[in-house]
Amino acid sequence: MQVSSITAHVLRAPLEEPFAFSQFSYTHREAMLVEVRTDDGLVGWGEAYGPARLTGTIVHEFLGPLLLGQDPRDVEANWELLYARSVDYGQKGVMLAAISALDIACWDIKSRAVGQPLYRMLGGSHADSIQCYATGFYFPQSEPVERRFEREARRFVADGFRAMKIKVGLGVERDVELVQRVRGVVGPAVKLMIDANHAYTPTEAIALGRKLEDADLWWFEEPVSCIDVDAYLEVKSRINIPLAGGECESTRFGFKPWLQRRAFDYCQPDICACGGVSEGMKIAALASLTGIHVTPHAWGSAIGQAAALHFYAARPRQPFTLTPDRKLIECDCSENPLRTSIVREPIAFVDGDWKLPTTAGLGVEVLPEALEQYRAG
Ligand SMILES: [Mg+2]
Repeated sequence: MQVSSITAHVLRAPLEEPFAFSQFSYTHREAMLVEVRTDDGLVGWGEAYGPARLTGTIVHEFLGPLLLGQDPRDVEANWELLYARSVDYGQKGVMLAAISALDIACWDIKSRAVGQPLYRMLGGSHADSIQCYATGFYFPQSEPVERRFEREARRFVADGFRAMKIKVGLGVERDVELVQRVRGVVGPAVKLMIDANHAYTPTEAIALGRKLEDADLWWFEEPVSCIDVDAYLEVKSRINIPLAGGECESTRFGFKPWLQRRAFDYCQPDICACGGVSEGMKIAALASLTGIHVTPHAWGSAIGQAAALHFYAARPRQPFTLTPDRKLIECDCSENPLRTSIVREPIAFVDGDWKLPTTAGLGVEVLPEALEQYRAG
């Protein structure tokens, strides 16, 4: 089996309502999907996180031609080839996101070739579903944040979520008020996390964390700079809330200092950014040495979402326990037509859990008409 063609699809979907987080606002969502075809008719899909035109150009001009003619089932050899040929120019960011997309597509083909769901190729799972947490609570433009947060909290509970993540970063006092407001709406039984998207200095993050210690938070995500291990360690040593981070990091080499120094409690590689399924498994293996939970970041299209689910499904809890309440997967609930409208049958969401697909590969089928509808001009 040989790779016979690789297409980089750059997609862009305008939003009905722009929204913001602590760093900037969105007027549209975008994604770069790769479609890898083989000489015997198989098709695999992958996705890159980050600026779609950049990752699309990397696949089209540089990495894709390296993969043509290779056997897509040789995932390790293919990954090493792509990484070795690009490491001199890019060890993180868009280069690794482009490698991620190709790696995911190769794994999709490898699983489809034997008719198995991807998670079974990665180690399998005794469970048939994973509990989701809702990612939402972005800052709207059309109404006060307070009103939107209360409404969203009620909606997530009604939809079956038992865990949800709140965006913070509007300033310590405002964040405290908003988080307490959401806690008041959902009650004590729902798990709440907060995510600052690295908006704070250690001093500010410590102040916020201390003021929220009675809010019973499951984790505080990206409190400080995503490139400053020491800042994480400072915050971690001074508040009683577990820390989460890693969505901006790439490869086992990038994650090494974070894991070795135990800079966070929840490690969040993004499978579409960290180097793909192959590299995600190595990062998870490193994390298993340190007592740090892995829970993938996922903020992409239906392809990225499926890749995160299969990867996570096949990661056993570390350490093993009869009370499985630490395995939670991110379910982005913000507006994104590329997540909700580009595959034939989205992954089933039942009672707050995602059901693991039973069909081959990623378990989702891309709609050709959706590719045309959202193709970036
Ligand atoms: Mg985050």
